[in-house]
Amino acid sequence: MIAITSNKTSDERIQEIVQFIEKQGVQAHVSKGEDRTVIGIIGQADPKLAEQLRQMSGVEQVVKISKSYKLASRDFHPADTVIKIKDVEIGGEQLVVMGGPCAVETPEQIDEIARLVKAAGGQVLRGGAFKPRTGPYSFQGVGVEGLIMMAEAGKKHGLLTITEVMTPEYVDVCAQYADILQVGTRNMQNFDLLRKLGTIQTPVLLKRGFSSTYDEFLNAAEYILAGGNPNVMLCERGIRTFETYTRNTLDLSAIPVLKQLSHLPVISDPSHGTGRRELVVPMTKASVAAGADGLIIEMHTDPDNSMTGDGVQSLFPDQFANLLVDLEKLAPLLGKKFDTHKEVILA
Ligand code: PEP
Ligand code: MN
Repeated sequence: MIAITSNKTSDERIQEIVQFIEKQGVQAHVSKGEDRTVIGIIGQADPKLAEQLRQMSGVEQVVKISKSYKLASRDFHPADTVIKIKDVEIGGEQLVVMGGPCAVETPEQIDEIARLVKAAGGQVLRGGAFKPRTGPYSFQGVGVEGLIMMAEAGKKHGLLTITEVMTPEYVDVCAQYADILQVGTRNMQNFDLLRKLGTIQTPVLLKRGFSSTYDEFLNAAEYILAGGNPNVMLCERGIRTFETYTRNTLDLSAIPVLKQLSHLPVISDPSHGTGRRELVVPMTKASVAAGADGLIIEMHTDPDNSMTGDGVQSLFPDQFANLLVDLEKLAPLLGKKFDTHKEVILA
């Protein structure tokens, strides 16, 4: 249930309404908009509460929300959430590009890729130190040492960093080294992990489970939000369909649907979403056209020898750089800003 106040309702009155709601043993979440404030009510409210609120001065409307997720819903929070990390804003006007290898391999590898991501105009360095592999005998990542290598490369080249965390026990150490924590597709419903991520404030990029509905996806985000961490972004990374030509089917519709249902930033991953290098460039552009707030793209200096099988979907550095030049032209047409910081060379 939400209570909507009018633009004339004072902050003091909103506080009185909140206190009244909380006295009934339920939670009140205030979301202040430009011309109205929404008070979201979470918990088993007395059936009489809706009518009592309707009678209160300052309350314009009371609406019952039937969705199972609340804090993730746009009904509860009409304005877009913008996550600010240093000078990067995710979910606002800026288009955010996260680039880098599937896995951190060596200090030299991650340093060189970080240099190339920065030179191309990317803002965030991606790289897995803990890798969720389908088979137990495959390379599982270099672990904590990889976190250190990546943090150093990010700092040296002026990039934020994002890395995957797979278990609640590793959340604190990953948060110590990385700016953004990624929850992989296989862990979208690892509820212990989601609960733990709710206890910190580090931004989380939550990937959609490859067989999950939008409702399940938003409920997974709700676990993190309900724990007290408001810094969640959603990532469409492809779902499993009958098609085998591509590794997954990037569900482009997810982007406008999630933007409609939720206020959280939406990021697209065209690398895992297609599994094929030649499709990453067109699907990146399509994602931006569909309204994505950012992209997470695999790029490698030597994809044929990458330590995970994801070399086949990794862009070469020059492809990555050319793609970002195109995004600089495309972004303004879609109400976004993206700057490669390359100087314009006049003929
Ligand atoms: C990754 O980003 O390298 C990764 C393993 O992603 P996903 O969880 O989407 O498969
Ligand atoms: Mn990968």
